[in-house]
Amino acid sequence: MTSTFAPTIDFTAIDVETANSSRASVCAAGLTKVRGGQVVEAASWLVAPPEGHDVFLPRNVAIHRITAEHVADAPSWATVFPQMMEFVGADALVAHNAPFDRSVVHQACSAYDLDWPESTWIDTLPLARRMLTLGSYSLPFVAQALGLAETVHHEASEDALQAAQILIALCAKAGMSTLAELHAGTQIGARTPRTGSSAGPARATGDFSGLVATDVLAGEKVVFTGTLMLSSRAEAQALVTHFGGTAQAGVTKATTILVSGELDPRSLRPGVELSRKLEKAMLLAAGGQPVEIWTEDDFHRRLDVGRDELEAATREQRVLSNPGWLPSYVIDQARALDGASTYQTWLRAALRHPAGRASGDDMCIRCGGIFETDTYWMLLERRVCSGDCNEALKRKAKSEWSKLGIARPEAPAYAESYGRR
Ligand SMILES: [Zn+2]
Repeated sequence: MTSTFAPTIDFTAIDVETANSSRASVCAAGLTKVRGGQVVEAASWLVAPPEGHDVFLPRNVAIHRITAEHVADAPSWATVFPQMMEFVGADALVAHNAPFDRSVVHQACSAYDLDWPESTWIDTLPLARRMLTLGSYSLPFVAQALGLAETVHHEASEDALQAAQILIALCAKAGMSTLAELHAGTQIGARTPRTGSSAGPARATGDFSGLVATDVLAGEKVVFTGTLMLSSRAEAQALVTHFGGTAQAGVTKATTILVSGELDPRSLRPGVELSRKLEKAMLLAAGGQPVEIWTEDDFHRRLDVGRDELEAATREQRVLSNPGWLPSYVIDQARALDGASTYQTWLRAALRHPAGRASGDDMCIRCGGIFETDTYWMLLERRVCSGDCNEALKRKAKSEWSKLGIARPEAPAYAESYGRR
């Protein structure tokens, strides 16, 4: 027996990459398993994105260097995800900017009607922001500040490994030996709403005052520099205001975020040459002023997260006025099916809208929302506007089928024991 207190830091770190701006367009995934504060196992996959989400945009390829050719023979998410879940077991999932990875996992699953276990997600980004003062909280800078070895940024397996090492190092820095001590307040969904409580009265339609969605940039003073690729400067500044921040014309002592349109996301890493303005910001940060440099990609990834939440909240508000939305054909179609097909085939036949795919004038059967031109084909077939509405449709249909004793094929199961070894 030793008197040394052994750390019980157990988790699986995850990183995913996407082919385009759709969160379902997963093209790579990496996992790293940690036991007792030690990396013990890693796995990674190239993934063929779901049909309809499979265009590789130059902006994404520039980040991760994965192209359509690389995934030509790769398995789909429907094959990869069960393997990943077997690797993860019952572990908490750890990622750097975790809302992005979680959103990709959920939307990719939704594209194949896969259920996902309700894992605990821990985000190392806010944790690093709380514990370190840096000019950038992107993976390479956080890793450098913690004295970790350099890796190939935006390679899924490398990024998962680095997120794992970051959490281990942050635990050590904080003198903590269990994950529970550290992650309080950094889990997704653990943020405190600005007003009211989750058990409080329902908000009036159109009142988003208490939603975390608009808090993404709360208290931040944001300056843009260089040429932006994806929006005009005025649009970007309007986004800042929308997400609770203040757009500034130039850097001041109060500036907290400097978004540089000139920076290639791959190039923002320790040791690269920066423009004088950025160099100055990095020096200010090194001297203790909490100013961060974001690439335009950082900016959009962080705001996308808020946009997802904002859209979900808008949908929920519309749903409230339409409580009995589950269409009866979902029952009738299920009754007419036999249980001999696969789970996915059965679901598809039971849930498809009898009048065919949604087109321009149709509305979401659940929330009344409209369809975008690039809505995923499976959602069009069911006439649901989003992954959220699709999941709600499946949940409610399953519960009704069960109540009525309508049998359906069993869903694919994931091993629960793997992660406990
Ligand atoms: Zn909807």
